[in-house]
Amino acid sequence: MPYVFPPLPPAAVPVAGRAHELFPVHRIYCVGRNYAKYAIEMGGSGRDAPFFFTKPADAVLPVPAGAVGQMPYPPQTHDLHHEIELVVAIGKDGFEIPAALAMDYVWGYAVGLDMTRRDLQIEARRMGGSWCTAKGFDHAAPIGPIYPISQTGPLQEGEIWLNVNGAKRQRSNIDKLIWNVPDTIEQLSRFFELKQGDLIFTGSPEGVAEVQEGDLLEGGISGLGELRVMIWPRMAAGFSPDPEPMRRR
Ligand code: MN
Repeated sequence: MPYVFPPLPPAAVPVAGRAHELFPVHRIYCVGRNYAKYAIEMGGSGRDAPFFFTKPADAVLPVPAGAVGQMPYPPQTHDLHHEIELVVAIGKDGFEIPAALAMDYVWGYAVGLDMTRRDLQIEARRMGGSWCTAKGFDHAAPIGPIYPISQTGPLQEGEIWLNVNGAKRQRSNIDKLIWNVPDTIEQLSRFFELKQGDLIFTGSPEGVAEVQEGDLLEGGISGLGELRVMIWPRMAAGFSPDPEPMRRR
């Protein structure tokens, strides 16, 4: 049966080393407070159970290898924060997946940014409201190419870092995740049937802070390349990131 108007193509992310293939995004799940020092920074004890939230699939801002992504400064905030994160790409459907089998469901990994309107998040916390405007806004999930696990093998440790305008902001190791990737998949898949194309942002280490228009964010994880994003002027109606982003000089 025809649609009443043409549906948008699915959100998609480039794949490292495969210039002619894209990873189609089904959903974006995120883990909150998954590094002890970050949890303390956010006012927790460092031992709180992590929890989940989501962003719309089309919040991805895919950044090809060697490019600089263009993220417009979002509306309705004066406190946009960076959170550098390991992203897990799911390649197989599954429900109530035991941790011991969870790695069979991982298609690959990427470097991502869980961009956050922190002022709206703090207000939502205070009012007991939802995080969707704080976390789920347009272009809120910049992400680099997905590296297939067939190439990387399972990642248990590796430096994770973020610089802003060349200055160090976040520096940790993914071995400091409170819930590692198999644990996260086990827990998340109790709440949702995971599907091919799901992305899981696994949580940010300490050092999250504000960014401004014109800032250059450069982050990475050992073995997964680097992600570069420039914060562009405040979003105007109809903003669409340049389909061929600036190449790195
Ligand atoms: Mn986060």
